[in-house]
Amino acid sequence: MAMTACNPAAPPRRVTVLGSTGSVGQNTIDLIERHREAYDVEALTARSNVDLLVEQAIRLRPRFVAIAEPDLYLPLKNALSGTGIEIAAGSRALVEAAERPSDWVMAAIVGAAGLAPTLAAVRRGAIVALANKEALICAGSMLMAEVRASGATLLPVDSEHNAIFQVFDFERREAIERIILTASGGPFRELGLDAMANVTPEQAVAHPNWDMGAKISVDSATLMNKGLEVIEAHHLFTLPSEQIEVVIHPQSVVHSLVAYVDGSVLAQLGPPDMRTPIAYTLGWPARIAAPTSRLNLAEIGQLTFEAPDETRFPALRLARECLQIGDGAPTVLSAANEVAVNGFLTRKIGFLDIVRIVERTLERIPLLPLGSLDDVTALDKAARVLSASFVEGA
Ligand code: NAD
Ligand code: MG
Repeated sequence: MAMTACNPAAPPRRVTVLGSTGSVGQNTIDLIERHREAYDVEALTARSNVDLLVEQAIRLRPRFVAIAEPDLYLPLKNALSGTGIEIAAGSRALVEAAERPSDWVMAAIVGAAGLAPTLAAVRRGAIVALANKEALICAGSMLMAEVRASGATLLPVDSEHNAIFQVFDFERREAIERIILTASGGPFRELGLDAMANVTPEQAVAHPNWDMGAKISVDSATLMNKGLEVIEAHHLFTLPSEQIEVVIHPQSVVHSLVAYVDGSVLAQLGPPDMRTPIAYTLGWPARIAAPTSRLNLAEIGQLTFEAPDETRFPALRLARECLQIGDGAPTVLSAANEVAVNGFLTRKIGFLDIVRIVERTLERIPLLPLGSLDDVTALDKAARVLSASFVEGA
């Protein structure tokens, strides 16, 4: 049975999905297809998965499809010939996809590669559903300034930030004492450091609760993901590090909490399925149905919480230090982490080397305040070159 959006009389919302072939992208497409009459697809983009992109384009009939890999232009064009869909390739094409006139843009490209298209969507004042946390971490102050200047609406997709967004009283900020981000603890929550040194990429990407892309799965295993999320929360909710607490919650049912000055703590709960936060942003400000399992608290029985262990998981401390330092430190953190995670996934370095390489990169690279997008790009590139040399030398 097809589900309907809250307001069937409203004209379809015109939507663009950047990174439509990824984990968040595919969940977004799933929701759009379940509410087909409520959405009109403007553009879809992918890096290299032509087959899936073609399949999505044939089903959803976007006006424009972009592939990041220039070599894949012809295969994509041939596969979609006769459909009337406009095709483009290369990094400029991703920006064009974001610039095209849609009401709503899902920013679900992974890594700093998503910054330029996300920024393009923000600059034209769109409603931007932000999954691509690395964009906000590498250029946080700049991106938030662009949001304010253009009047764009930034809706967090990351489950923790989406939870906070749902219970954060923006009208009475002074009543908010702190926010509490929950973390599952990842697959190695109970593992000692000796055993952690030998884990494989397959073990690291096998997340106990969530089914996600490879990069964020490894970040969840090192807890770098939670460190990045502290920085993400700092920008989204304008809070200092001291007001952003992290608690380990292995069941991933309480997605995050907001504590108020009167002692009240408000939380958003749900089964660990990204379609809930994505649906929240897709329908916003209305709520639309999502086909997730329903929360059955009696069946779950127990929800547990524990403090994070920063000795076994130093990424959390490192990310907080970067937030404190400012001046491009988060840019370097995120870029070096992308390179190191890739080095681990391709078996060039061990699991514990990931955070070591990020830390070494931060120690060696000269930091400067970031005044422009060019500054961000230059620092991001320098961090990649240096961390790649550590990966090769490991
Ligand atoms: P993924 O690896 O499954 O998908 C990434 C998407 O980005 C794909 O469509 C891919 O084609 C595209 N892409 C990758 N590199 C690109 C490049 N260089 N240029 C253009 N396109 C490129 O990743 P994901 O798990 O869907 O995560 C996407 C973003 O959402 C990440 O920033 C992640 O941190 C965030 N996020 C994901 C989840 C989740 O459940 N997967 C949850 C919270 C936040
Ligand atoms: Mg998250």
